[in-house]
Amino acid sequence: MVKDDLVIGWFNNDKDTVFKKIIIYKNNLNIQVFVSKVIVNVEGIMQTATDFEDIEKIIAIVNNLQACSGTGLDKSPQSVACYGYVDAKKPGTSFTDSRCTVCSKERKNMIDLQRIYTLRQREIKKKLKKQKSIGRVKNITRKNSRLNNKVFKLKEKVGLLKQKCATASAAVIENELTRLPESQQEAVRACFAAAKLKDPKGNRYSINWIYECLLVKIKSRKVYEHLRTKKILALPCIDTLGKYISKMSGQYGFQQAIFDLLAKKANCMAPEDKRGILLLDEMKLSESVSFNKKTLKVNGLVNLGNYTPEHQINSKGDHALVLMYQPFRGKWVQALAVFLSKGCASSTVLHKIVMECVILLERSGFHVDGIATDGATWNRSMWTKFGISSENVSCEHIHDSSRSLWFLSDFPHLIKNFRNCIVKQSEFWVI
Ligand SMILES: [Zn+2]
Repeated sequence: MVKDDLVIGWFNNDKDTVFKKIIIYKNNLNIQVFVSKVIVNVEGIMQTATDFEDIEKIIAIVNNLQACSGTGLDKSPQSVACYGYVDAKKPGTSFTDSRCTVCSKERKNMIDLQRIYTLRQREIKKKLKKQKSIGRVKNITRKNSRLNNKVFKLKEKVGLLKQKCATASAAVIENELTRLPESQQEAVRACFAAAKLKDPKGNRYSINWIYECLLVKIKSRKVYEHLRTKKILALPCIDTLGKYISKMSGQYGFQQAIFDLLAKKANCMAPEDKRGILLLDEMKLSESVSFNKKTLKVNGLVNLGNYTPEHQINSKGDHALVLMYQPFRGKWVQALAVFLSKGCASSTVLHKIVMECVILLERSGFHVDGIATDGATWNRSMWTKFGISSENVSCEHIHDSSRSLWFLSDFPHLIKNFRNCIVKQSEFWVI
C-alpha cells in the first residue's frame, strides 16, 4: 500500500465486529476489497475505478457484505474455497444467512457424512450384539439340554427310590403293626392312609375304623371333634359318619339287598354248606315312636310288611319278630328280617311271613330244611296251619315238592318256661 492510496473502511454496526475495507490504489486505480482482513473477490465489482460513481457503487455493494462464519464445525471450520463473505442483498439471502454457499454445502456434506458414519457404527454394533447373542443362545440351549437330561435321570432315580421306600416302609410298618392291639392297628392304618393323601377330602376309611369312630362319637361328641380338629387321629367329619350310617339302613320287613348278598355268597359255596334252618322268635319291646328326619318316616309303629292287619295300622308296636338263618355247617348266622307288631303276631301273619321267608331263601340259593320256633301258642297254631301235629312233624316243602320241611320246637324254651313256672308259683308239688 502506497501512502496516497485511498482506503475506505467501516464496521457494520455495534454488534457486528466485521471489519470491511476498500483500497483504491492511486497508481493504477485498482480496487481491492477486504472482509475480516481477507481479500475477497466480490461479484459485480469492477477491477478498476474510473470515476466517483464507480466508487459509490462499490461502497454500496461492500456495505451489504457479511463475513462468512464458516462451516460451524470443529473438524473443518472453513471451506478451502470459502468466498469469505455473504452478500445480504443477493436474492434468497438475508443478514441471518452468515454462511457462504461453499461453506454451507461443506457443512451439509460433513453433517451427512457424520450421520452415515454413526448409522454404520450403530449397525456394526447391532451386528456384533446379534452375533454375540446367537452364540449365547446356542450355549444356553446346549446347557439346557444337558440339564434336562440330568433332571430326567434324577427323576428316574427318585421314582425307583420312592418305589423301594414305599415297599420297604409298608412292609416294616405292617410288621410293627402286628405287635399292637387290633383297635390301635386300625388307628395307625387310618393315620398312614390319611398322610398319603394330598387332599384330605378324598380319604376312604375301613369299615372297622368307621365303627370305632362311631363308638367314640356316641360317647362324646366334644372329644370326637377335639381329636378330629387337632388331627390327633385321622377321623372322618361327623357329616361323613352320618353318610356312612345312612348307607346301613335299618328297616322293617324283608330287604332285597340281604337276599341279593346271600345269593352272591351261595354262588361260591359247596351244596352241603347251604343247608340250614330258619329260626324265628319274638321279643317284647317298650313302645316308642320317633320321627326320622332323614327318611321323613315315623319309626315305632306296627310294621309287618305287607301283612300288617288293618286294625293295627298306625298303632305303636311293642313286639319284635326276628327271623334268622343258621346253616347246619359253618359258624355263621344271618339275620334276615325284623318286624314290629302289637302284641304277638297272629298265626295267620306268621304263616305268611314264614312262607315268604322260605321262598326268598330258596331263591337266593340256600336250602331251608327246618323251621325252629318256641312252643308259644301262636307258633303252635302256625304249625297247624302247615298241617303239623304230634304225629306228623313235617310237611311238603313249599319250594320243592320232593323235599320235606321239618318243624322243630325250641327245647331250651321248654326249660325257660319250666323255670318261669317255678319262679311264679309260691309252692308246687312233685309227684
Ligand atoms: Zn465461507
